[in-house]
Amino acid sequence: MPTFSKFITSQRGAQQILDSDGYIYSRKKSSDTALTSTWRCAKYNPPTKCKCHIYLALADNSLTLGTQPHNHSADGSVPARQEVLLSLKRKAGRLTEEYVSSPSQRPGT
Ligand SMILES: [Zn+2]
Repeated sequence: MPTFSKFITSQRGAQQILDSDGYIYSRKKSSDTALTSTWRCAKYNPPTKCKCHIYLALADNSLTLGTQPHNHSADGSVPARQEVLLSLKRKAGRLTEEYVSSPSQRPGT
């Protein structure tokens, strides 16, 4: 469960929330209530169309996640995750090479 990290300002000057997982949310004022403000994932626009919402309790800045999960990785950790993906792909290639070449090296067949 992510927690509130900090408020940030978008390139257009709008207030946004960064959560502890690195996801960014934009204010959705039309859904605010007296006790919570509603924020939706900053990637709600195409092509991502993420439907994740969070609710920020005004009393203590605690976050509540909506029912829809994110359908993408977090902005805050994209470089790290890309690095992991690259190393996984490299390993997968090596494994494939080993698998392909092993039958000819098997003795007795
Ligand atoms: Zn999202």
